[in-house]
Amino acid sequence: KRYMACRNDIHRHDAPFTAVFKSLIPAEEELEKQKQLMAKLDSLVSKEWPNAKLYLYGSCANSFGFPKSDIDVCLAIDDGDVNKSEILLKLADSLESDNFQNVQALTRARVPIVKLMDPVTGISCDICINNVLAVVNTKLLRDYSMIDIRLRQLAFIVKHWAKSRKVNETYQGTLSSYAYVLMCIHYLQQRSPPILPCLQEMEPTYSVRVDNIQCAYFDNVGRLSTFGSSNRETIAELVWGFFNYWAYGHDYANTVVSVRTGSILGKREKDWTRRVGNDRHLICIEDPFETSHDLGRVVDKFSIRVLREEFERAAKIMHQDPNPCAKLFEPY
Ligand code: ATP
Ligand code: MG
Repeated sequence: KRYMACRNDIHRHDAPFTAVFKSLIPAEEELEKQKQLMAKLDSLVSKEWPNAKLYLYGSCANSFGFPKSDIDVCLAIDDGDVNKSEILLKLADSLESDNFQNVQALTRARVPIVKLMDPVTGISCDICINNVLAVVNTKLLRDYSMIDIRLRQLAFIVKHWAKSRKVNETYQGTLSSYAYVLMCIHYLQQRSPPILPCLQEMEPTYSVRVDNIQCAYFDNVGRLSTFGSSNRETIAELVWGFFNYWAYGHDYANTVVSVRTGSILGKREKDWTRRVGNDRHLICIEDPFETSHDLGRVVDKFSIRVLREEFERAAKIMHQDPNPCAKLFEPY
């Protein structure tokens, strides 16, 4: 006899999903080690460039990081004419004389970086220059995560699923972790009643200009800690609903998901209806600040099928499987 989950007995999966979530959160001591390394890098950098600042960005700072990840650091230098290669080479030199290991300056990469390993904490780290937009979108994600715990629960589970199923590989045409987190935020903005607000549509309390893009939103999220409380949906329901939406509910042909507006936009209004260069717009996720940037741009006609088949597989498991938690994360 086939097992069919209905909205009522989906709740029996809440405990296993909560357990998966808890098992994926990094330990406090790991965060301590990251801080220790940042302090060390900070003092090295300020000797060389007194006006520069170091920022953590990406999963180590957006609250959606898994244990044992490498950390991403941005060196912000405001010196008018910045020669990135020169800075990276100089930085690599200082790091080596400070006994960091595996120091490598990749000055010709798409995003030029210095790589290093800290022998004291064992943490590996990439340092890039002036990627301030990434620092700002990292803050946006972290601010959203503080409003309702269900965002972190959902996003950890979705990321864990994406990594297990090998659909978190941008060089193979599937989506970045950043894209998946935006999809989760959008999904929770769309619930009724909503679980998350749209911070960029509220009165801004934070505003910075980065490369001609005004980044402004309400960041006083301490005020919003009860925002989602009239929605009682639980983690198992949300995982079910998320996969169901991306398997059967989303209009891939005509729409764009937008965290910036908290709504679904038409591809027409963004002029994302046809292929331009390598951007095919087969699944459209608008970057919250760089609004001409589609995070689905990496997806091609082969990988879109892979992605949609994986969404359908996940939705079916959530509908039918007596033990979805085991099946969902089965390695591909
Ligand atoms: P993981 O746990 O998989 O390492 P991550 O949060 O570090 O996850 P990445 O997708 O590696 O996610 O991205 C790192 C950071 O770089 C993101 O948090 C975001 O700030 C920025 N970023 C990544 N991809 C883009 C993009 N296409 N456009 C703008 N910013 C991006
Ligand atoms: Mg990363």
